[in-house]
Amino acid sequence: MTRPRPDLERLLADLDQLATFSEPDTPGCTRRFPSAAYRAGRDWLQQRFADAGLAPAIDAAGNLVGRRAGRLPLPPILIGSHSDTVYGGGRFDGALGVLAALEVVRALDDAGIALDHPVWVVDFLAEEANDFGVSCVGSRGLTAGLPAEWLAARAHGGDVAAALRAMGGDPGALAAPLLAPGALHAALEVHIEQGPVLEAGGMRLGAVSGIVAIRRATLTLRGRPDHAGTAPMALRHDALAAAAECVLAAEQAARDEPGSVATVGRLTVAPNQSNVVPGSVELFLEVRSLDADQIERIWQRVMAQTRAAAAQRGVSLGIGTQTEAAATRPPAWLLELVEDACRAVDPATQRLVSGAGHDMMHLAQVTAAAMIFVPCRDGRSHCPDEYATPEDCGRGARALLEAVLRLDAHGVA
Ligand SMILES: [Zn+2]
Repeated sequence: MTRPRPDLERLLADLDQLATFSEPDTPGCTRRFPSAAYRAGRDWLQQRFADAGLAPAIDAAGNLVGRRAGRLPLPPILIGSHSDTVYGGGRFDGALGVLAALEVVRALDDAGIALDHPVWVVDFLAEEANDFGVSCVGSRGLTAGLPAEWLAARAHGGDVAAALRAMGGDPGALAAPLLAPGALHAALEVHIEQGPVLEAGGMRLGAVSGIVAIRRATLTLRGRPDHAGTAPMALRHDALAAAAECVLAAEQAARDEPGSVATVGRLTVAPNQSNVVPGSVELFLEVRSLDADQIERIWQRVMAQTRAAAAQRGVSLGIGTQTEAAATRPPAWLLELVEDACRAVDPATQRLVSGAGHDMMHLAQVTAAAMIFVPCRDGRSHCPDEYATPEDCGRGARALLEAVLRLDAHGVA
């Protein structure tokens, strides 16, 4: 038996080819759900899956799934990522994970290796947040089903259900999850880090120890709009001044809790006039960490400081709908397996946390799911400048292959 090895040239050629599918008159790579460019890129991918003998099909949640048979009647190992992008995105976010997964099965075939487990290579539908206000459409549909209000979300004169149908899915079949817990052996995704940690540490591969939890809420501060010239300082009810204290409280609270981040990314100021004391501010606060207690501590501290800053100014504070996405972590055995697989490819491997959401957090609802990160230049992504070196892309594919081989042996007598 020859040792299987991904063909770097073939992987890079595929990355180049997929990057040619982009919406006209947009920067970088733009393949948004359900644009013609996204569909065309997928048609090309489907053909590449077919060329690799993967008998590709689109499931009810719109995922493109290629299936490689196993020697034994065992649950499949799922590998993959997504081929949609943000507006003006890059060539690697998602695309690398799909094409590395495809390359892994081709490398197995080239080396004449049959695995005990079937392998599914998956391009998850619509991972990126889109104009419908939804994300991870395919991986959610696969593992949890899609609620009717999701399918009815509208943008550009259509709804998600129609867009899903245009991509080959079947929205009527998504009231229940497509996969039951235990239906898969495990799931793995290779992805660019989208952050600076690996690069800064001179690391080549990352074994992702978890995807952070996110708590978000809209806060509304209501004061009183007054003439900026005639309202004395002591008599003002300046909503923006109170909001500014909230922004700074969030910054300091997260700085004091290493491993967490807190952001106020959007402020809507009214009346937003140069000569009027700000009457009201709506702000969007989010806190992320792998540690739920840390999120709670930061949240309480920011709220207390904001409440005090508002009270001091006679400004009222309203808290809108609070949403919370729980953290997901791979089981210890899988994290160890993935870390060992990465280390076997390159000793410059470290564990790290993902601050961004990914399809694997939904897969984690039904199976053991883990991720492998490769560095990207300056930690940048979701922009045309997004870049990962050919060597790092190759290492990502090799680590994925190594992990698949180890997973195939795991738990089989
Ligand atoms: Zn991505």
